[in-house]
Amino acid sequence: MSKLVDHAIEQYAYQYTKEEPDQLREIIKSTKGSMESPGMLTGRLEGRFLCLLVKILQPKLIIEIGTFTGYSALSMAEGLPADGRLITCEINPKAQRMAQQAFDASPYGSKIELREGPALDTLRSLDQTIDMAFIDADKDNYPIYYEEVVQRTRSGGLILIDNMFRSGRVLDPKTSDCKAVHGLNESIHQDERVENVLLTIRDGVQMVYKR
Ligand code: SAH
Ligand code: CA
Repeated sequence: MSKLVDHAIEQYAYQYTKEEPDQLREIIKSTKGSMESPGMLTGRLEGRFLCLLVKILQPKLIIEIGTFTGYSALSMAEGLPADGRLITCEINPKAQRMAQQAFDASPYGSKIELREGPALDTLRSLDQTIDMAFIDADKDNYPIYYEEVVQRTRSGGLILIDNMFRSGRVLDPKTSDCKAVHGLNESIHQDERVENVLLTIRDGVQMVYKR
């Protein structure tokens, strides 16, 4: 889906990344069959990357902003420790229904709590410390999601932020969403509270470590 990485290399990376569980492949199929923008799914490469980060970090609480049909939530839940939980936020009722069905059918689904409504309301109502976050919803609000998340994240926690290249448009941002994403890349670069790497995985993944 990303035009940023050479197609043959993207295919090669896909082939030599461990297969995701069958249920996740089924989510890809059903999402393609019933949702308008199936390209929003993180897919195998980024999904397995998130899963491995969770296995390494062993977070007790993950916050996801932007559930869609549940692919990334289930990828992360798979890596959680026995007492780990994931809270995921989604505003679209159709996506909520599909995601909840997928969670109910998964052995990891009981670790996931789907919060319906605007992610900002859910974030602001949290009173627990965040160990890991995955920000992947409406791009115009990325700067505010980042600030709310970073303040609630423990020292040593990780914040992942997706689509930080906007298919390359961050190089010359014209629309409000691209300006917001580029602005966030700038702020993270200046932010003394964190260390980061802007990874060229897929559409750009900010990996931010809270000091
Ligand atoms: N993380 C998902 C993809 C998320 S796509 C995956 O990898 O499979 C972005 C999602 O954010 C969409 O489903 C959209 O409905 C949701 N979204 C957009 N604005 C939102 C908001 N204000 N609050 C919560 N969810 C929102
Ligand atoms: Ca995304």
